[in-house]
Amino acid sequence: MAEIIDGKALSASIRENIAAEAKRFESEYGRKVGLAVVKIGNNPASEVYVRNKIIACEKTGVRSFSHDLPESVGEDEVLALIDELNGNGEVDGILVQLPLPKHLNEKKILARILPQKDADGFHVVNAGGLMLGLPCTKPCTPAGIIELIKSTGTEIEGKNAVVIGRSNIVGKPCAMLLLAENATVTICHSRTRDLGSITRNADILVAAVGIKEFVKGDMVKPGAVVIDVGMNRADGKLYGDVDFAAASKKAAYITPVPGGVGPMTVTMLLKNTVEAAFRCKED
Ligand code: NAP
Repeated sequence: MAEIIDGKALSASIRENIAAEAKRFESEYGRKVGLAVVKIGNNPASEVYVRNKIIACEKTGVRSFSHDLPESVGEDEVLALIDELNGNGEVDGILVQLPLPKHLNEKKILARILPQKDADGFHVVNAGGLMLGLPCTKPCTPAGIIELIKSTGTEIEGKNAVVIGRSNIVGKPCAMLLLAENATVTICHSRTRDLGSITRNADILVAAVGIKEFVKGDMVKPGAVVIDVGMNRADGKLYGDVDFAAASKKAAYITPVPGGVGPMTVTMLLKNTVEAAFRCKED
């Protein structure tokens, strides 16, 4: 049976350090680290994520600036808010909760955030930095995935890592981070042929598909580290992208859903924000 990678416990220990850093910032610079959280519309999942992020800020000593805009808001109004937050000396990080209502141009809105205040690491400058191996703000979920893998004591270097999913927020950056750790990385997606033959060769398997229990037990290599990014709501419950019961009989380590990747995503957001605050003062 696989050992469960406890994302909540790992988060709690990392958040202790983040809280200490946030406190140090406050005592050195006379104000709290600040994170602006922009939510647009009433997507129920976004409501939950935003609430969790704001609570996490409070517990870590980071001040949150909450901006709730109506579903019908115009693009100019959103851009004007981002400009204001970019210029606000108390705001160190800005996050715009995705997905956005369809009439808004996500690329344009994310590109308006100053790269140095891009707490989610989605800005093209940070994405480019990740690609080129330059210092940059790393996207939260992929950064959390690397921490979860490392917490098992698994050496990433030289391992076969397979990422299912190529989204800009999870799959692609996760593959880049695994590559930076010297894994041999394969990225799979909806057009991949004979997926199981690839995943069965994965020492590290990351599932970011968005389909409930998509990864079956027979797709997992014995002894693998399995990271389940999926958050799929069905019958009032949360399901991962991995069939946990079957996969945990094959894997050496596996993340649960909930309690695996989710808490680490929020933790990395706090880390990015506190680091951005110090960087801004030290530049
Ligand atoms: P996404 O943008 O919908 O991307 C899904 C990816 O899965 C796509 O690249 C898609 O391939 C691929 N895919 C779909 N069907 C497939 C199939 N049959 N075989 C192989 N690949 C397939 O989703 P996302 O934003 O990356 O999120 C993925 C999951 O992670 C979702 O459940 C989401 O809720 C969850 N998530 C969790 C967190 C967290 O903090 N825990 C954060 C972000 C996302 P194509 O590119 O070919 O379409």
